[in-house]
Amino acid sequence: MGNYNGPDCRRCRREGQKLFLKGARCMGPKCPMDNEKHNKPPGDHGGSRRPRKQSDYGMQLREKQKCRRVYGIRERQFRNYFRSAVRRRGVTGEELLRQLERRLDNVVYRLGFASSRDEAKQLVSHRHFTVNGKIVNVSSYQVREGDTVAVKARSRSIQPIQIAVNSAGSRSQPEWLEANFTDMTGRIVGLPTRDQIDTEVNEQLIVEFYSR
Ligand code: SF4
Repeated sequence: MGNYNGPDCRRCRREGQKLFLKGARCMGPKCPMDNEKHNKPPGDHGGSRRPRKQSDYGMQLREKQKCRRVYGIRERQFRNYFRSAVRRRGVTGEELLRQLERRLDNVVYRLGFASSRDEAKQLVSHRHFTVNGKIVNVSSYQVREGDTVAVKARSRSIQPIQIAVNSAGSRSQPEWLEANFTDMTGRIVGLPTRDQIDTEVNEQLIVEFYSR
């Protein structure tokens, strides 16, 4: 399946919650999810339809789609993450989220060097970041404990990174990451535990979805 190129806010409206896909706009008054008139499911009859009771399958599917959308992952890749999580020793749902969190684009976003994961993805692919001193342009790259992610020296003054860094203070930073905005670096202090991942998703429903 190809990439979704439609409006981001439509995805939040579909899931009925803020997925924070558009950076600063998500915190401001223009977010449709904070506006009673616009906060309704997409489609011509989104607002008028009576809410139907969701089946177990429907709930599992929505949770999986929501998680995929938050991290901007295609179906096949998401399924691969799940398969890999099953093979690991820990709790499958938690392992799945941990792999998603360890993606370089997510780490760049979480550290505050990009305003959204989409933007982080683009900045990484344009070679603006290094991991342990080497340029990495693969957004799915999995960081490890002890790694240092840095903005490339020549990229420190580019506008999207400057804007993100200036507003980074308004976002809380997870305990497993340590950002240093003076030298534009971030360190992976440890791998995240479930309580350090603030993504509002019920991972157990995703496990049930793929275990049908
Ligand atoms: Fe749009 Fe962001 Fe609000 Fe979602 S959270 S509806 S992406 S502004």
